Amino acid sequence: MYDGGRPAGSLWEETAPPLGPGVDLGPNRDEICDVAIIGGGYTGLSCALHLARDFSMDVRLLEAGSLGWGASGRNGGFCTLPPTTLSLGDLTKRYGEAEAKRFVDSQREAISFVRSFAESEGIDIAAQGEGELLVAHAPSRFAMLEQEAEFVNRTFGLGLRLFSREEVAERFYDSREQFGALLNPLGFGLHPLRLARGLAAVAAQAGAKLHGHSPVLWWEREGQTHLLVTPSGTIRAKRVVVATNGFTRAPMPGLLADRIIPVMSNIVVTRPLTADELAAQNWQTETPCANTRNLLFYYRLLPDRRFLFGARGDTTGTEADGAKMRRFMERRRAEVFPGWAHVETTHAWRGFVCMTAGGTPSIGAVPDDPSVFFALGYHGNGVSAAPWAGRLLAQLIGGKEEFSTVPAPMRRAPGKVPFPALRRWYLRAALGYYRIMDL
Ligand SMILES: Cc1cc2nc3c(=O)[nH]c(=O)nc-3n(C[C@H](O)[C@H](O)[C@H](O)COP(=O)(O)OP(=O)(O)OC[C@H]3O[C@@H](n4cnc5c(N)ncnc54)[C@H](O)[C@@H]3O)c2cc1C
Repeated sequence: MYDGGRPAGSLWEETAPPLGPGVDLGPNRDEICDVAIIGGGYTGLSCALHLARDFSMDVRLLEAGSLGWGASGRNGGFCTLPPTTLSLGDLTKRYGEAEAKRFVDSQREAISFVRSFAESEGIDIAAQGEGELLVAHAPSRFAMLEQEAEFVNRTFGLGLRLFSREEVAERFYDSREQFGALLNPLGFGLHPLRLARGLAAVAAQAGAKLHGHSPVLWWEREGQTHLLVTPSGTIRAKRVVVATNGFTRAPMPGLLADRIIPVMSNIVVTRPLTADELAAQNWQTETPCANTRNLLFYYRLLPDRRFLFGARGDTTGTEADGAKMRRFMERRRAEVFPGWAHVETTHAWRGFVCMTAGGTPSIGAVPDDPSVFFALGYHGNGVSAAPWAGRLLAQLIGGKEEFSTVPAPMRRAPGKVPFPALRRWYLRAALGYYRIMDL
């Protein structure tokens, strides 16, 4: 799972235009710069772009695989909100209404940022659908959606709309696990690797130096300077940005490495469906969908009518468990959408999303070394949150923003995970518990 030389095996890798010449400079040499960024996903690329373009900084980005190799190049393409596992009710209780509102507003802005970035730079991210449909997978969950809609609309003014089982069947799709739904008008679907490569192209054009296949293996201080050692050279930098999210590997400050919880997310994609097959589930929407399961399914129809179906699960990352997960997802897809039980899968892949103990992203600087910045922990919702956070990091480093302006739910280091070596066992226990809850 951490081998940057290994392609993800995603549909996106087959369908994204390649990077233009001079964008990925390949393995770094011995160099000196203002800011070194570790991680070439949305967070790192967006930070590199804005540091170079808006603050004229000399930037080096180091990525272990190819640019966008991590979650940014292999996700489900849901550009939706919010990046937290807390309900907006719990978020409000924990941080107060004003800070919860700032958090939601910032993530609303994050979605607009992605769309307007792509439009203004002329990047075809294959945007489709309007909003996100959260589907009740059991009748009891519809009542929960009703309560949520009332609270969220009253407090945050998001304009969520409820649809009964019959209305969903008529306007969106029908299935055995469809008991009404909540439509959040914010968000859309996109081609994730097109976005990552688009960010890389614009960052390189702005002057950022992007080095793929440059894993940072060693990190030490030499007075005021950071030394980052890769197999091909050493980067000396005044400041370092850690943008490694769920794929974080050594060497990273313990504050980050020991406190993140990488969780596997898996995707299977079918061949293009025929018009008759779509009619079998009355499928007629391009809006991305997720259901109310704790171990959620997320699914969307792609522009060429392939069906993307995603789910969380697996704690080992072995080939054997990957194959088991794929069979589980194909079986569940057939149960939820029986009209497509015969449709074969053409692509299957997986990767890490990043959770934290507090259930919200973490953006900041390491307290005992304020020259090290980080943004991570998007809880499986980083397509909009990560590019936005990368820009915010650049603004913090460039002095345009103060830490106090970061919404409180994100303004902190990740919370401690007791006995970090046991993280995989905590996950196993959580997956088992959620499976039972979902039943
Ligand atoms: C299967 C899957 C489906 C998902 N679906 C969605 C979705 O539909 N919607 C959504 O909003 N979010 C989704 N996510 C989450 C989303 O993709 C992430 O939140 C987002 O891409 C995080 O971006 P990032 O730049 O912070 O991290 P990443 O894109 O993971 O980039 C981190 C990079 O750091 C590099 N790195 C780590 N350590 C080192 C080192 N020592 N040296 C050099 N490089 C290093 C890694 O190689 C990696 O490429 C999904 C994730 C997965 C895996």
